[in-house]
Amino acid sequence: MKSRPNTAEVDLHIHTLFSDGLFTPEQVVMEAKRKGISAIAITDHDSVDGIDRAKGEGKKAGIEVVPGVEMSCYVNGTDVHILGYYIDYHDEEVLNFFARVRASRLKRAEQMVAKLNELSGGRWQVSTARVKELAGAGAIGRPHIAQALVEVGAVQNIGEAFERYIGYDGPAYFPKMRLTPLAAVDFIHRAGGIAVIAHPATYGNDGLLYTVIAAGVDGIEVWHPEHNQRQVDHYLEMAEKNRLLVTGGSDCHGGRKFGRVYLGDIRLPYQYLAALKRKARQG
Ligand code: AMP
Ligand code: FE
Ligand code: FE
Ligand code: ZN
Repeated sequence: MKSRPNTAEVDLHIHTLFSDGLFTPEQVVMEAKRKGISAIAITDHDSVDGIDRAKGEGKKAGIEVVPGVEMSCYVNGTDVHILGYYIDYHDEEVLNFFARVRASRLKRAEQMVAKLNELSGGRWQVSTARVKELAGAGAIGRPHIAQALVEVGAVQNIGEAFERYIGYDGPAYFPKMRLTPLAAVDFIHRAGGIAVIAHPATYGNDGLLYTVIAAGVDGIEVWHPEHNQRQVDHYLEMAEKNRLLVTGGSDCHGGRKFGRVYLGDIRLPYQYLAALKRKARQG
C-alpha cells in the first residue's frame, strides 16, 4: 500500500454548522466542487441533520455525499472520536439517540459556562443563551463556548480559550456523555454503519487504540491534518496488521479550527471510499 494518496478525490471528514463547523451543508458541497473533490463525507459531532441537505446539493453539483457522524467515547478519561459511515441516519432510534447526546451536551455547556463565570471573578460574563445562539441548530460544543469567550473579551482568540480555560486540562473543562468504545462501536454497527477511529495520533497514546480495536472498530483514519508522515506510516501499518480499513479527511470546520479551511487539504483516491462502501454493503 502506498503511504501517500496520489490522486485528488475524496475527503471523508467534514463538519457543518450542524455541529461546530462554520459552513452550511450546501457551502461544504460547493467548496468541494470548487476544489475538484468528487466525494465528501459529512461527519458532524453527534448529529446527522446536515446530511440530507448536503446530499440534495450534491445531486445538483455532481458531488457524491457519504453519510457520516463523529461520536465521542472515553478510554481511561481520554476523549476518543469514532467516525460512523453509512449508518441508517433516518432511523428513529438513531435520531433519538443523537438527540439525547445533544441534550447532554447542552447540560455540559451550562456547567462550563457557570464554571467560567465563577473563574472570571466578575471581569467578564458569558451566557448560556449566547452560546446556544452560536451553536444554532448544531450540536453545542466547546468551540461555541470559546467563541463566546472571545466575544466578551475574556481571551483574544479560540486557541487561547482552549489553552486557558476549556482544553482537556483546563479549569472549566467538563466531559461529555461517557460512552464506552464498545457502546459507540455497537451503536454504529446496529445502525448498519462502519466504525472508524478518528485522528488516532491526537490522543498521545497508542495503547487506548487497542481498546477501541478490541471493541470491534472497522477502520482507522490514517490521513488527517494533524498527522505527520511518520504517523501516517505508523497507522497504515497498524491498520494492515489488524486488518482494518483506512480512511482520511480534512476534519474541516470551515475556518473555526485554527482559522483555516482544511476542506480538501487531505484527499484520498476513490479506491479508499470504494473499500468502505464494499464493507458497508457486506454488513
Ligand atoms: P467538544 O466536542 O464540545 O468537547 O469540542 C471539541 C471540539 O473542539 C473539537 O471537535 C474541535 O473541533 C474543537 N477544538 C479542540 N481543540 C481545539 C483548539 N485548540 N482550537 C480550536 N478548536 C479546538
Ligand atoms: Fe469539532
Ligand atoms: Fe474529532
Ligand atoms: Zn471532526
